[in-house]
Amino acid sequence: MAINPGRREFLASIAAVSLFPLEEEKPELILHNGNIVTVNTREPRAQAVAISRGRILAVGSDADVLHLATAGSRKINLGGKTVLPGFIDAHSHPAMAGGMHLRMVDCDLRSISAIQAALRERATKTPAGEWVLGFKYDDTKTSDGRPLSISDLDAAVPDHPVQIEHRGGHTAYCNSLAFQKAGISDKTPDPAGGKIDHDPATGKLNGRVAESARDILDKAIPQTLTRDDHREGVKLISKMLAKTGITSAHEAQGTPTDLLAYQDAHEAGELLYRAYCFINYRYIDAMIAAGVRTGLGDDWVRVGAMKLVCDGSISERTARLSTAYEGRPNDFGILVMTEDELYSYGRKAHLAGWQIGTHANGDVGIATTLRVYERLQRENPRHDPRFRLEHCTVINDDLVRRIKALGAIPTPFSTYVYYHGEKMKYYGAERLNHMFALRTFLDAGIRATQASDYPPGEFIPMMALQSEVTRTDMKGNVWGPKQKITVEEAIRVGTINGAYASYEENLKGSLEAGKVADLVVLGRDPLKEDPSSLVSIPVERTMAGGRWTFEA
Ligand SMILES: [Zn+2]
Repeated sequence: MAINPGRREFLASIAAVSLFPLEEEKPELILHNGNIVTVNTREPRAQAVAISRGRILAVGSDADVLHLATAGSRKINLGGKTVLPGFIDAHSHPAMAGGMHLRMVDCDLRSISAIQAALRERATKTPAGEWVLGFKYDDTKTSDGRPLSISDLDAAVPDHPVQIEHRGGHTAYCNSLAFQKAGISDKTPDPAGGKIDHDPATGKLNGRVAESARDILDKAIPQTLTRDDHREGVKLISKMLAKTGITSAHEAQGTPTDLLAYQDAHEAGELLYRAYCFINYRYIDAMIAAGVRTGLGDDWVRVGAMKLVCDGSISERTARLSTAYEGRPNDFGILVMTEDELYSYGRKAHLAGWQIGTHANGDVGIATTLRVYERLQRENPRHDPRFRLEHCTVINDDLVRRIKALGAIPTPFSTYVYYHGEKMKYYGAERLNHMFALRTFLDAGIRATQASDYPPGEFIPMMALQSEVTRTDMKGNVWGPKQKITVEEAIRVGTINGAYASYEENLKGSLEAGKVADLVVLGRDPLKEDPSSLVSIPVERTMAGGRWTFEA
């Protein structure tokens, strides 16, 4: 197809042109008498916003906006309440988590006996021999001071295979019957990029498997969720996210099943947030063959980046580090894929026009990923590839320089300091000043995002703000104070920067005419709040596409 020479100029002027038809429209809804934080640097504060057909018609003073009202316009007096753009969670697993909430035992409990009781209860309702599955277990949050063992699980549930996932998602805990079903014995060797743990005294399985060893179990667990269940999962998690002010989320490890679930939920009117659905590298060949690439879709469901995984996890202490974990001199973490594998999948996706997002937590993982990205750009330069570094947790000056030079986007954990404080000691005070490094990223002009990584992290945006601004955990310990940012900066990170990470900064992330009407009404103003109580600010209403998705 020949490209019309005028097309480029036409595309460049679309943003301006699209306002004209909107200006002739009459507002269906006007929110007024508000304290509106627009995240638009040209007009940072406003009182009123006019909305029509899911988009923002006008933002400004009450006088300017209210006079657009017609007899058919509904008006809502905000009573001085604070309004922010809807939050964008740039790395989360909501569709996956929704399915888990639907079927699995929530093991976010505070003792091993409480977990055993919950598993036992589920087992009584499950035919013998069928799997009992759990998720959101956290070894550092139980009062027992030791992790779950194979005998804990055998004692609780002897007649069903059991697998409990750590909330970090990189390790799991199994009972004897589960290992038997998966064909794992005391003598099974560790697979490449994975670990099957043993009791050091007896040499017997202790129940824990890490990283790629989890795949052996996954193959033995029948996938019982139907297409309808996946849609139900999206519906369930939609309500959970809307309640906290989230209006967009990037599904960071998406599959074709998730993409379908999003389309089904959207068609059924049940999708309450905009999904940017990553596609796991295992499906990339099929997607490329079908002519699909990043950006395909609409304002609600869009194909995101291809996902690669370079190293392990922060919450489970398997991230690949250049210096060992505190108190574990020989433990440097795990590399999950080789540099060659990352490159060969990366090259395919890069040439086919995909954005790439690689899970890279430790400084070694990040350096490896950057080497791959730099090579891809050197060999086949692409305009604006927006390479993503998923998590990008432990950094140093050289990494920051290279991230800036590439224009890459880090998505550091937003709620970890606050919520996962008890894990911070494994990284040490010095290293913590180089972790979740928002101050460093922003100072370098790097557009880092807000990212929960739910289920591993909590997704509450107000918790993210508190964590990023105070660097203080729930018990009052401060971790990495050099990385504190301001509330104003944290809001930008959670809104417009998230939009940029999915190439949607002209569509959302700030409240301005022409953008989608995605916003959150808060009970108190975070810019006037004591930073140590940001997490307690109530979300009163959330709107996505001009529709209230949550009302308290
Ligand atoms: Zn993740």
